Amino acid sequence: MKDIKTTPTNETRRQFFKRTLAATAVLAATDVRMNISLAGDAGRRTSLDVPWYRRTLRWAQTNITEIDPTRYDIAWWRQHWRRTQVQGVIINAGGIFAYYPSRVPFHHRAASLGDRDLYGELASAAHEDGLAVLARMDSNRTHEDCWRAHPDWFAVDATGRPYRAGELYVTCVNGPYYEEFIPDVLREIVARSHPEGFTDNSWSGLGRDNICYCANCEKKFRAWHNQALPRARNWDDPVYRAWIRWNYARRLEIWDLNNQITRAAGGPDCLWIGMNGGSVTGQSQQFRDYRAICERAEIVMLDHQARTDALGFQDNGVAGKLVHGLLGWDKLIPESMAMYQQGRPVFRLASKPEPEARLWVLEGFAGGIQPWWHHVGAYHEDRRMYRTIEPLNRWHKENEALLVNREPVAAAGLVWSQQNADFFGRDNAQELVDLPFRGFVNALVRARIPWIPVHADHIERDAAKMSVLVLPNLGVMSEAQCESVRRFVARGGGLVATGESSRFDETGESPGDFALSETFGAHVPANRDRTDWTVRIRRAGETNHTYLRLTPELRAQVYGPKTGAEPMAVGKRHPVLRGFDETDILPFGGVLESLDLNSDCQVLATYIPAFPTYPPETAWMREPRTGIPGLIARTAPAGGRILFMPADLDRRCARDNLPDHADLLANGVRWAARDAVPLAVDGPGFIDCHLYRQGHCLILHLVNLTNAGTWRAPVHELIPVGPLRVQIKMPDGVTGAGVRSLVSGRKISSARKAGLVSFEVKSILDHEVAVIE
Ligand SMILES: [Zn+2]
Repeated sequence: MKDIKTTPTNETRRQFFKRTLAATAVLAATDVRMNISLAGDAGRRTSLDVPWYRRTLRWAQTNITEIDPTRYDIAWWRQHWRRTQVQGVIINAGGIFAYYPSRVPFHHRAASLGDRDLYGELASAAHEDGLAVLARMDSNRTHEDCWRAHPDWFAVDATGRPYRAGELYVTCVNGPYYEEFIPDVLREIVARSHPEGFTDNSWSGLGRDNICYCANCEKKFRAWHNQALPRARNWDDPVYRAWIRWNYARRLEIWDLNNQITRAAGGPDCLWIGMNGGSVTGQSQQFRDYRAICERAEIVMLDHQARTDALGFQDNGVAGKLVHGLLGWDKLIPESMAMYQQGRPVFRLASKPEPEARLWVLEGFAGGIQPWWHHVGAYHEDRRMYRTIEPLNRWHKENEALLVNREPVAAAGLVWSQQNADFFGRDNAQELVDLPFRGFVNALVRARIPWIPVHADHIERDAAKMSVLVLPNLGVMSEAQCESVRRFVARGGGLVATGESSRFDETGESPGDFALSETFGAHVPANRDRTDWTVRIRRAGETNHTYLRLTPELRAQVYGPKTGAEPMAVGKRHPVLRGFDETDILPFGGVLESLDLNSDCQVLATYIPAFPTYPPETAWMREPRTGIPGLIARTAPAGGRILFMPADLDRRCARDNLPDHADLLANGVRWAARDAVPLAVDGPGFIDCHLYRQGHCLILHLVNLTNAGTWRAPVHELIPVGPLRVQIKMPDGVTGAGVRSLVSGRKISSARKAGLVSFEVKSILDHEVAVIE
């Protein structure tokens, strides 16, 4: 066994800080809050001594495979770190496989490691090069010999059989593996190599799909809830819901315990930061309470490597904005970005097509995410993947001061909560929760209305800056969250809500009516079945041959044959129905039931029940008119405009991608916002617009998602669009005296008039970033 590696000397560490001094100074100069946080730190740090988690803007990870100790060319990878301008590296250290000669019993060395300290050699090289080091762990399963020696460390099913993942055995979060083994490994790694911190891929143990019945779980759950563990997954059982909450609480204890260990061993900045995903539903599956984690975290390492067809590249912007909303916009969110073919299908050793990788990275930048390139294995025969990140990171370095420490400028806040994903989404969060949210995302991106995600507990904090709040089928809402919405509307704010928003409390129980019924002006009739989840889930997953009838008032002209049966009305349609003058119906797809409405409501569309599509001779409306409302508008006494959509057009928009649904959603948001949208972008294409303020500047990202691969990954080539005409409302303190481009480098001429700055972007290939000064 090799001797324990010498740790970096004080001199080395001081050099490390010096090397990053220039970047630090740039950041500190642009961020008042950073200086405040430094000054507030008991005078221990100087302004040049910004901790690694605030200044490491570009990261690298070569995920070490078991064979790599025989072929890892450290000199080559050091060059690659330099070529790609990274400031931090994530190096496999321990967990399932140890990449150093660990002395902790049952800490398995990688098969080809022998006595080599590959992790230690890499950590030393990185420290010598002035890079921050995160030791990567993977800590939720281990090998058979350990299970034989310590069966009480492992998760078991109701019959006492251990849960397995392939050849490995899954460890239990309530056992000594997490309380003794992992802390021993963390302390050993700190002592050997002094990493800046730790990441861990699968730190949260067994996911929600399985219940562990080990003795530790039985004992601890009884102590917590005074009940035996639930025998099966059953969301209607209060004990099962308590088990869900208990699991969340345990993951937070693990987060805190690991941080105690690493800080005690490595100093106050030696953080254990796990890893977290970009999907709230995914976080729920793993009992990771995103809001509570972000309250504890100084930095979030985001494991969110690729898009799906349905989510699109815009999903990366969503992830960045959602996590920043929890973590703060002054902190960093590096994201693992696969340089190999990740997503569907997966080819670990083949390059991801360059335009596909590039657009994912650029959407990340637009959402406030920092780059972290990721390769699997230390040797590649497909070398194209090494080239992908170079120009992107070069651009990032040149413009880094403008890419962090910014505040979003938005018209709309899309409200979400993880409780809703759990207790309303249950086992069908995709249909019940994700699709409605995504429908609004796609409609707002398409309409170029700037928006941000707002956590339901942060409405008071965040909504004051916005014109309109959106509740996308937010079924579960606490009374405090509802009260925040009522106050927002009472202050004159606009509201758009859909589906079953506010029908359930935070425990998942429903009193029957919407908690926000008086705000919506709509009530669920008292005899309605409130608990039939089978019907709810089936309807969410189907597209039926149903329609919405636009209220027939207010039409100036009719083009087409007259039946004589329909009354003619003249006038102007409601602004929410703008653009639909030539039709009296719209395709719908959902199913609606009657509601009781307050007298101050205006029904903008009613439901047409399903009729056959086939054979075509049968495709005529059996019931052309009902009184069942699909869209309901009202204006609150204080002037707040409220649009309640019992029709799940948000979910339909995400499912079926019909432009009518996207237009209706965008119209609704504009109307409720009283057209107070700070950004207008005219011109062709599918462009994701992100607007920020930084000091006296506005920063506008325009990401060109117009592509043959927009809805089918991967993108094969980039297609330029333009020109785009941009108009931005100038907030106080921004003069709009000049506009410059960070991508094309062209000088952009602009005009100022009545508080607006206008300019044209001639052409965009992949993205453009305009700085308005
Ligand atoms: Zn257990």
